[in-house]
Amino acid sequence: MKYIFICAGLLTAAFSSFAQSSALFAIAVHGGAGDAGNLSEVKQAIYKASVQRAIDAGYDILSKGGTAVDAVAKAVMILEDDSLFNAGKGAVFTHEGKNELDAAIMDGSNMKAGAVAGVTTVKNPVTAARAVMDKSMHVMMAGKGAEKFAEQSGCEIVEPSYFFTHHSWDALQRALKQETEKKENSKKKSMLQPDNYDEKYGTVGAVALDKNGNLAAATSTGGMSNKRFGRIGDAPVIGAGTYANDICAVSCTGWGEYFIRLVVAKSVSDRIEFKGMSLNDAANEMIMQKLPVLGGDGGMIGIDKQANITMPFNTRSMFRGYKKSTGETDAKIYKD
Ligand code: ASP
Repeated sequence: MKYIFICAGLLTAAFSSFAQSSALFAIAVHGGAGDAGNLSEVKQAIYKASVQRAIDAGYDILSKGGTAVDAVAKAVMILEDDSLFNAGKGAVFTHEGKNELDAAIMDGSNMKAGAVAGVTTVKNPVTAARAVMDKSMHVMMAGKGAEKFAEQSGCEIVEPSYFFTHHSWDALQRALKQETEKKENSKKKSMLQPDNYDEKYGTVGAVALDKNGNLAAATSTGGMSNKRFGRIGDAPVIGAGTYANDICAVSCTGWGEYFIRLVVAKSVSDRIEFKGMSLNDAANEMIMQKLPVLGGDGGMIGIDKQANITMPFNTRSMFRGYKKSTGETDAKIYKD
């Protein structure tokens, strides 16, 4: 009898390890929607290599049986450290010439979430968001309090000057110049309405499905160039720019105000749950129909339990890529 139990136990263990090793897993990453202009072949290759590095790092975690939440955190950290993107090093500047960073992370396996907004000294804002999720009773912290909590939680702290890059600084100078010219030429349009938002995007994000069937999403951004008055975008707003549950995981990029108003990320999940739509149809309805009707633009990446991946955007470009355990992989910038 004893041997029957031992055999049954061994069989169960063997089966669950087989199920784990054959289970689907995947990761998708974005480096922001907008208008990348006509990038040379060399520059395109550089951007794609950066996106690929983040994908590979997240994929490596998933392939070793790591969690979706660890995979998205790692992928986003890599892009935060990469000055090509508007997150962490390389973030855009506020109207006053500062870098104020937002980030969020959500674990679909338990619906836990963490977010920080307007931080100026945390090297990797996604690590602070993770600390809020794992080590506090809150979901969102902002400004000085968030920085203090991040430091106490062991996140790496840097001088605000760490985030400086010439390209983001120059983008702010161009925006300020345009604003002054516009003010001189016309009093009609509100100064707070950005009308050249091409340079204002570049957020980074990741979504993943792990071998245990759990989903997670993370997003990190400097927000929109020339933002004012402590403006906070959609990225750290759970349900708007970042969301994960047991249906799908979503990370958005684009004109944040519109993503907040439409609660875009959660709306994708709701369409799947309540309307029976596919992930791709739900994401496309939000990005290609709902968003432009209001006057917003941008894109998103999403993944579901079957490792379906969607990456719609209504801007000219979106840095993006993915890798699945089936061997399927891709990295793109422009439309097909
Ligand atoms: N969604 C971000 C924000 O509004 C900007 C971006 O995606 O680049 O803060």
